Amino acid sequence: MTSPLILIAFPQSSERVIFERALRSAGYQVALAETGSEAEKIFQESIPSLVLLHASFEKNGLDFAAALLERFPTMPVVLYEEAEKLASYRRALQTGISGYLFPPLRIEDLQQTIERSLQRARRLGDWLRHEVKRTTASLEKRIELSEAERRRYEIVFASIEDGVILIDTSGKILMINPAAQRIFGITQAQAEGKLLLEAIQHPDLRDLMARSGEKHLSYHEINFADGRVYHAQITPLPNIGQAITFQDITYLKEIDRMKNDFVNTISHDLRSPLTAVLGYTELIERVGPLNDQQRIFLGRIRTSVENITALVNDLLDLNRLEAGFDTRRERVHLDALLSYSLDLLRPLIDQKGLQLEVKIASPLPALRGNPLRLRQMLENLIGNAIKYTPSGGRIEISLYPQDSQIVFKISDTGPGIPPEEQSRIFEKFYRASNVTAESSGFGLGLAIVKSIVENHQGRVWVESALGKGTTFYVVLPAERQP
Ligand code: ADP
Repeated sequence: MTSPLILIAFPQSSERVIFERALRSAGYQVALAETGSEAEKIFQESIPSLVLLHASFEKNGLDFAAALLERFPTMPVVLYEEAEKLASYRRALQTGISGYLFPPLRIEDLQQTIERSLQRARRLGDWLRHEVKRTTASLEKRIELSEAERRRYEIVFASIEDGVILIDTSGKILMINPAAQRIFGITQAQAEGKLLLEAIQHPDLRDLMARSGEKHLSYHEINFADGRVYHAQITPLPNIGQAITFQDITYLKEIDRMKNDFVNTISHDLRSPLTAVLGYTELIERVGPLNDQQRIFLGRIRTSVENITALVNDLLDLNRLEAGFDTRRERVHLDALLSYSLDLLRPLIDQKGLQLEVKIASPLPALRGNPLRLRQMLENLIGNAIKYTPSGGRIEISLYPQDSQIVFKISDTGPGIPPEEQSRIFEKFYRASNVTAESSGFGLGLAIVKSIVENHQGRVWVESALGKGTTFYVVLPAERQP
């Protein structure tokens, strides 16, 4: 091991000669500097282990020491002054000087002070190295832990049976799990880092992403030509982007199709006997006189048969709509359809003593659609408002253009729909808990409305507060201007 280098920063003097000799004889290497720039040169060649500094070095040795300690905080600096001064001693302590020497001075005192200062610096160095090592080790451990955690998340992500794709805020794929790779027939390398809609070109996915900001998007299907159907959902991830999940619902769709086929067959088979029963209830009066009670019973039979016939017709309608048979498209003026429907329903409105307010914006663009189906949609919604609003209540209808769409809005002052049931009222046969025993219906009206609206590339949703009333919105694309 080489012996420590000591820099003696002294003006030329007899003390300097004595100190140099004493230190060399104690086995230290010695470098001499008379000025600050000489000292700097020595520091550039090799950093001394200790500086023995004259109090008048560079005019004020303590200023030089302060600047030196600023650069090398652990450097031991021993100050020598020609006479002991309390003020210097105090400032030396504040500056962080390791030793303070003044005459009379024995050579052993000098060597002891130097050795003690060097030892303290060595201990400080050892402690620092140890601390750095300890902190590094604990950091490494933490990194190792989070690495293990990351691997764990990766395993979970990879083994989720639903497809999951994470995208960043610019729409680039951050991660795609094996299930999603299988669904879209794409490899990780083909997907990650690419724009989602470029890597995966699927019209239903494009549609989903276009609608991802919508408040009312709760259900979206991704259909494949081979019959697979997935339910897709988008969840925003704060500061990351979005997660899109794909759940295989092919088997549910198959069950649904089988159920629909079954209901359809039964409905068909019921139609002829029902028509026959209705026919005979009308004929029966013509073939002979009935007493009053028989007439009442006959009236009840007729009402019941009419109800079942309405149900069967609704079921057949729904089936046709869902099977995509509603393809008739022509130029339709929704305001004209609305007036027609209102004329038809006005007697019911008056009968219940409801107030009706209708606002139709003019001019209203036309749209392309099936007038019969669109009228059915309007009548179902208006019919519900009439049915569920108690006498004396109020119904407000408005029809207005918005961007390139037409909005039909109908509000009533009825009982409102409990919030937890609002997402279910468009399901087949679903009747919310707000219906009373008297209100007739099978829970198919809104399912038909939804099918019709969606067949016309539109959207329908409800806003409702219990006890306050209900508003249904239907938004349909307006006819494109040539
Ligand atoms: P229904 O034959 O029962 O009227 P719909 O499919 O038309 O069937 O409606 C489903 C359910 O939605 C109704 O049973 C009712 O609970 C609720 N609903 C629909 N329209 C309204 C409305 N205007 N006010 C309150 N509840 C409504």
